[in-house]
Amino acid sequence: MSGKRTGPIEPFRLWNNVCFVGSQAVSVHLIDTGDGLLLIDTGYPFMRDEIVRNIRSLGFDPADVRGILHSHGHYDHYGNTLYLKALSGAETWISRIDNEIINGRRDLSWAVELGYERLEPFDCDHLLEDGDVVALGDVRIRCRLAPGHTEGTLAFFFESGGMRLAMHGGVGLNSMAASFLAARDLPRDLPERFRESLHALKAESVDIVLGNHPEQSDTEAKAERLRAGDLRAFVDPGEWPRFLDACEARLDEMLARERAERS
Ligand SMILES: [Zn+2]
Repeated sequence: MSGKRTGPIEPFRLWNNVCFVGSQAVSVHLIDTGDGLLLIDTGYPFMRDEIVRNIRSLGFDPADVRGILHSHGHYDHYGNTLYLKALSGAETWISRIDNEIINGRRDLSWAVELGYERLEPFDCDHLLEDGDVVALGDVRIRCRLAPGHTEGTLAFFFESGGMRLAMHGGVGLNSMAASFLAARDLPRDLPERFRESLHALKAESVDIVLGNHPEQSDTEAKAERLRAGDLRAFVDPGEWPRFLDACEARLDEMLARERAERS
């Protein structure tokens, strides 16, 4: 969850076989695997027609979606999964840990906090552990557990067109606030596990960062540069470590604020 802006973003081919079909509210990425389409996340329910339109306007058929991979188990990332699965017969993936949220066993989807009705619960077809690989067509996405935003948030790594792409699946801090953890009986060490995970992920070398919300990686500004002719607008090997450092700095600020409020 995050992001107050909900306006449209014109869909675009971001790099090689990777496209953006989401909106300002939340990212949805489409990868043309050579053997069907793979989606990363499916947006808020209110984005349903917009996503279908975006997929079509790039020349793809939503019925060709063969796989749906979820970054984490929050409402805004799986809002259209059942719809798209019914439309296409796609198989679905999420971490084993966050599957417990979307199947309703743990009430942590943030639907109510975000002002919406709970979604119909379901289980994904494939439950991911740390290090698992999702393979479809020519694409192999390595999934690493990146706990913090949820306990089962994933980070994704894959190659495309000579570049290494990555997405951190969730970095928002509101679900790591001490008050939230206490109210939901969640492990109090989640913020420190988030920090450890940020450090571990820094060892990965990454050429292109995909934001799981557009503002996470300046998606709109880069898309504008891309449209103006800069075909490498999304290529920036320094962005991944800068992004992870910025996440840790925000974590430190939150923890300092919480310490100040307690004393
Ligand atoms: Zn979230």
